[in-house]
Amino acid sequence: MSVYYPPIEQHETVLAIALRVVQNTHYARPEAPHADADAEYGQEQLALAARALVEAVDALPADRQPIGWVRQPCQAALMPLSGEPVEPCVIQGKHATHRTEAGQRWTDADSGLERIA
Ligand SMILES: [Zn+2]
Repeated sequence: MSVYYPPIEQHETVLAIALRVVQNTHYARPEAPHADADAEYGQEQLALAARALVEAVDALPADRQPIGWVRQPCQAALMPLSGEPVEPCVIQGKHATHRTEAGQRWTDADSGLERIA
């Protein structure tokens, strides 16, 4: 097991822009002539920097990515009522409503037998 070291350039860029966003929002001076534009620009730049960081982490070898970085497929499946095949959930990451490839949806509270959509 190896340790995650962030892609330094993208990591530092996110931090620098995040600090600028905080400065432009939490500590904004309304009398500054471009305060609104600075805040909007910073928020856009933060989103772009965050995407660059995600892409850089995605490009790392799997054993150098943070634990839990790769989303595991959901283990839930829609149980058939008769001899039909089991239909697995196709959603990855956190979710409350499961969905099959065909678009059928259910929640854990449905116990997998009732189809809600
Ligand atoms: Zn699911």
